[in-house]
Amino acid sequence: MEEKSGKVNLAEMAISQIERASQYVPDVDRGVVEKLKYTKREIIVHFPAKMDDGSVRVFSGYRVQHNDARGPFKGGLRYHPDVDLDEMRALAMFMTWKAAVVSIPFGGAKGGVGCDPGTMSQCELENVTRRFTWEISPFIGPEVDIPAPDVATNPQVMAWIMDTYSMHKGHSVPGVVTGKPLAIGGSLGRFDATGRGVFTIAAKAAKHLGFSIAGSRVVIQGAGNVGGAAARQFAGAEARVIAISDVKGGLYNPAGLDVEKALEAKRDTDYGAIANVEADEITNEELLKLECDILVPAAIENQITALNAPGLRCRMVVEGANGPTTPEADAILCDRGIYLVPDILANAGGVIVSYFEWVQNLQELLWTEEEVRDRLNRILSRAFQEVQAVAEREHVGMRTAALALGIGRVAEAVRLRGFFP
Ligand code: NAD
Repeated sequence: MEEKSGKVNLAEMAISQIERASQYVPDVDRGVVEKLKYTKREIIVHFPAKMDDGSVRVFSGYRVQHNDARGPFKGGLRYHPDVDLDEMRALAMFMTWKAAVVSIPFGGAKGGVGCDPGTMSQCELENVTRRFTWEISPFIGPEVDIPAPDVATNPQVMAWIMDTYSMHKGHSVPGVVTGKPLAIGGSLGRFDATGRGVFTIAAKAAKHLGFSIAGSRVVIQGAGNVGGAAARQFAGAEARVIAISDVKGGLYNPAGLDVEKALEAKRDTDYGAIANVEADEITNEELLKLECDILVPAAIENQITALNAPGLRCRMVVEGANGPTTPEADAILCDRGIYLVPDILANAGGVIVSYFEWVQNLQELLWTEEEVRDRLNRILSRAFQEVQAVAEREHVGMRTAALALGIGRVAEAVRLRGFFP
């Protein structure tokens, strides 16, 4: 499955994960496991959008709905040049297991548009978002499928989706997306929920391994929504964030970075603010191999591979991104005794608070930030304990344990609902 570059096809990886983890699901029906290897619905749309120079460009967009046995489909939308159907299939499956691992009543979906948002104006992004939303409108909705932000999409993109869908319906439908701005029905605590969850889970894992977050050395790949929020949480808990990167490269200071200045430098597109940060510049590859206690890959998939896994020098990996570690790398880390908290547990904070946002929208409730954080903490703590218990019972790593727990819960829902007609 692994290519020469060390990268894998994410869809093949998702299927092999099901095969492996389902062995640890007691009494599971093999026919149901077979069904879970397939998505339920795959929507592909090709649509035109007006560019600022008056030209028309055609974009391809996807929404893949994997399974809704436990509740409406739920999952992010990403804007990236590499978006394709296989990637969407895998990411939709990961969402199904993630919602099940943390026991929230959603199924899994994922979507995206093949485009390079870094080269597009706000107006072009809005045109693409609105036309894409229009094309997938028959297949989404608060009781059907609820998109959310992912790579290169943000609350503004969610606002355009909510508005376009609402125009289509003739009334405001805030529950159609989560991750919206507060002014139109977003939830307090949603924006940094994924990064906060990464930190919460890392703290639980550190406690389990017997070391304290305060004073620990943390390396973060990715300075976006997830990596940035996680960095702030670690710094707030007196960890030393010694390196952080974005697609252009990383900043490294063994004494600990000034996280706010480093994030500011990464936001600055002309790169000028780097001069304000006390740090050396390093590549992403060098960053992954830095000696540290906690490594958080929080950028994109396929970053820790069979090629670089032997060189990692961390005590644990906490996956902020989806699918950052290939299966061969996973096995290498396991052999080397590096503890790994998998994506479907470590980055579940986002979908959990998305669930809170959806609940508040449907019931017209407004929860305080404290309520949101307390509930998030309780759900993550319970999920961590449940996954750890499966890992100990079955003598497997945390990834296999989390997948077995998630797949088991989805398989049980499918079995109970039965097969229609
Ligand atoms: P983002 O677009 O806000 O940030 C992504 C960051 O990764 C940016 O700093 C970007 O420069 C960097 N990056 C992109 N390509 C890279 C590469 N090849 N090498 C190194 N760095 C690179 O995205 P995000 O929302 O923070 O999402 C990051 C990851 O977390 C994705 O895998 C996403 O699926 C996952 N995730 C996000 C959420 C969420 O709530 N946003 C929830 C769960 C999982």
